[in-house]
Amino acid sequence: MGITHGTAPAEGSVRILVCEDESLTALCLQKALALMGHLVVGEARDGEEAVTLAECLRPDVILMDVRMPRLDGIEATNRIMRMCPTAIIMVTAYSDEGLVRQALDAGASGYLVKPVRDDQLQPAISVARTRFTQFKELVTELKDLKETLEVRKVVERAKGILMQRRKLSEEEAYRQMQRVSRNRRQSLREIAQHIITAAELLD
Ligand SMILES: [Mg+2]
Repeated sequence: MGITHGTAPAEGSVRILVCEDESLTALCLQKALALMGHLVVGEARDGEEAVTLAECLRPDVILMDVRMPRLDGIEATNRIMRMCPTAIIMVTAYSDEGLVRQALDAGASGYLVKPVRDDQLQPAISVARTRFTQFKELVTELKDLKETLEVRKVVERAKGILMQRRKLSEEEAYRQMQRVSRNRRQSLREIAQHIITAAELLD
């Protein structure tokens, strides 16, 4: 067994990136998070830095101030969700509905209004992580669904080509494609794609 250097992270410890341009607020947040046993992996003082650090540190959770120089928290959230989706909790002094909507549209998983009380942090982190997990599952499901539809479209087209050219029934055409797929150890999608390409070349 190897030697563990330093202190092992506590059970339930979360790697957090704090993005906040007010030094005092940032310090208070960091202290509170450390007391809860979390690991503050980085601090960003503006939106640009938030995006850069999110990409290279890959934290579990980001606390994101809305009003920040260079790039605001909403736009930073937008960019992070496009590049490396993360559980993001927006932190703002303004609790207007429009801002909440913008934050959620950008992909934030939670929302806190300043001044943030220490006892609000842990529940917000837990909720944001749960929501983010659900979001990721949904994205995977959508991807699978898209892939399934794409395969079906290609297979249907290839089947049509076989039926027409070889004068086969739908079932026969499908079985023939399955047989070739098994024999050549290629997916049905690949075989279908070959048939379509061949038909395009021969026409
Ligand atoms: Mg600010």
